[in-house]
Amino acid sequence: MYADYSTDAFEEKYTYYGNDLGAAWSPNGTFFRLWAPTADEAAICLYRSGTAGQQDLIRRVPMTPDRNGTWIASVPENLNGVYYTYLVSVNGNTVEACDPYAVTTGVNGKRAMVCDLESTNPAGWEQDRSPILSPNYTDYAIYELHIRDASSLACSGIKHRGKFLGLAEAGTKNRSGLPTGLEHIKKLGITHIHLMPVYDYGSVDEANPGKSYNWGYDPENFNVPEGSYSTNPYDGFVRVREMKQLVQALHQNGLGVILDVVYNHVYHTFDFSMNQIVPGYFSRENSQGILSNGSCCGNDTASERSMVQKYIVDSVNYWADEYHIDGFRFDLVGLLDVSTIQKIIATVRKKHPHVMFYGEGWNLNTQVTKENVPLAVQGNAWMLPEFAFFNDTMRDTLRGSVFDYHLPGFVSGARVPKESLLQCFQGRMSWSNDPKQIVNYISCHDNHTLHDRIAEALPQADEEELAKRSRLAAAFNLLSTGIPFFQAGEEMLRSKKTLSGRYLENSYRSSDRINGIKWNRLKEPEVQKTVLYYQGLLSLRKGHELFRMTDAGMVSQCIRLLPNAPEELTAFLLENEKEAIIAAFNPGICGINLPLPEGTWQVCVDNGRAECDPFFCVSGEAMVEALSAFVAILEK
Ligand code: CA
Repeated sequence: MYADYSTDAFEEKYTYYGNDLGAAWSPNGTFFRLWAPTADEAAICLYRSGTAGQQDLIRRVPMTPDRNGTWIASVPENLNGVYYTYLVSVNGNTVEACDPYAVTTGVNGKRAMVCDLESTNPAGWEQDRSPILSPNYTDYAIYELHIRDASSLACSGIKHRGKFLGLAEAGTKNRSGLPTGLEHIKKLGITHIHLMPVYDYGSVDEANPGKSYNWGYDPENFNVPEGSYSTNPYDGFVRVREMKQLVQALHQNGLGVILDVVYNHVYHTFDFSMNQIVPGYFSRENSQGILSNGSCCGNDTASERSMVQKYIVDSVNYWADEYHIDGFRFDLVGLLDVSTIQKIIATVRKKHPHVMFYGEGWNLNTQVTKENVPLAVQGNAWMLPEFAFFNDTMRDTLRGSVFDYHLPGFVSGARVPKESLLQCFQGRMSWSNDPKQIVNYISCHDNHTLHDRIAEALPQADEEELAKRSRLAAAFNLLSTGIPFFQAGEEMLRSKKTLSGRYLENSYRSSDRINGIKWNRLKEPEVQKTVLYYQGLLSLRKGHELFRMTDAGMVSQCIRLLPNAPEELTAFLLENEKEAIIAAFNPGICGINLPLPEGTWQVCVDNGRAECDPFFCVSGEAMVEALSAFVAILEK
């Protein structure tokens, strides 16, 4: 039906290259530019409030057609804080839509707001700098967190519960006096917080945020912070200012900020502003008018169309420029085309060389509207050398398949060939062996938590055993070659157990009780031990470059299976000119004696304890305790 959007003729005529789409504010006037090539008529509606349905129109401003399918208008007065929509007629049908380029909106994202962005900057914003200095992805450690989960429960001791500001609070404690929220996170040794969607999404009513919960993978306004995370969703300035305050606070605590961006689909296909203004342009549709649905969300983004690509490239650049964002995680990036991702990386990196990029490169069944367009799937990793992908092989090898969650993985007793474990530890996948392209993980928001997945495979195991097996998995994941990543609370044995005793596999719209981080659990001895274990592993990783190598050739030269290790143990030898490291993993229920190569070995990881500084020495042989990891170092 709309196939001509993807033709060369359409694109030559209607691709707009300027950087002034949206509303450009100045004290003396605001300039609007809208891309609406199929429109017969376009106008701006100016409103006093940002609430859809309020009868508070100030006036309508007609727009005039300009080049490449754009429409323009100037309003020579100070419109800062004035709300607006576009009124567009296509084929006799008139629609009122939000501005796809809106930088902020009123409640629930229906009306855009003209905004003097500088006035939203918190004090000291001009001095705000990214704390990320290393350009090497393998030096990073990423922590995936939902804004609301961090502080939704009273046990967080956090004042601004469920808000941007809640995660920015300093010195928060639970009832036992143990640090919570940012205070807990900054001690872990991670480098980046990956925030699950914080753009404006549609599934939570911003007027009543307590009534529902959602992860937020349902975008409405891609360049606007979500209103339910602000203290006042009605005032367009507040969500922008508070999100900047959060970024500033995280930066001041030494943490980089990564946004989870979901350009691959929109919440309601035909309610999405760009699809209203240019009917169906944003989404893939075949010649029969059937929407492509590789995303399983009802629509796939037609990133191969020139003005969709431009929109996505502009959007990512906007977050990096305006909010000082340090990285982007692309949801179902396998639906987007390679060229869009290449342009994003090239344009963002010109200004912000430290910004990192990664995503879910799964192969999905999507109908691209042009021919021979490569997609950003794992198999095309070679076309995107600066883009990393989630390593599902690591996840499934260690904890078991996501498709049959009763099957065990390596840490729950499955027999896995040593060569496969070596490949995981070396970050050597079929689709890439470049360490900076491999995001290693054993839990994220999707599927079971690590604890719950192990419990599903081992229903007879008690909590102590589950904790030991969780720590074993963490040691393997966090010490492997690549980029370590984990879900918030994994270090606290996070569980999503329902009142009926079931482990929830998909909690995307479950309650705060299920999803919220249970900070009161920090007082449990196994939880405390596990938090310390993660801290120790991350500082050990930081202290030894053998865990953070950036070159595939060096990895295969420096990491191999330890010769002469007992069959029941998986043991690796990491070695360079400075030192040798043995990393051994025992998923069995008996301790195993490991013969050590000559020398005095300094032990940093043993029986559920991990530290950067060795805590004892051993020579000849070492006992690798049941259900645990062991790491020892020999200086040369
Ligand atoms: Ca919203």
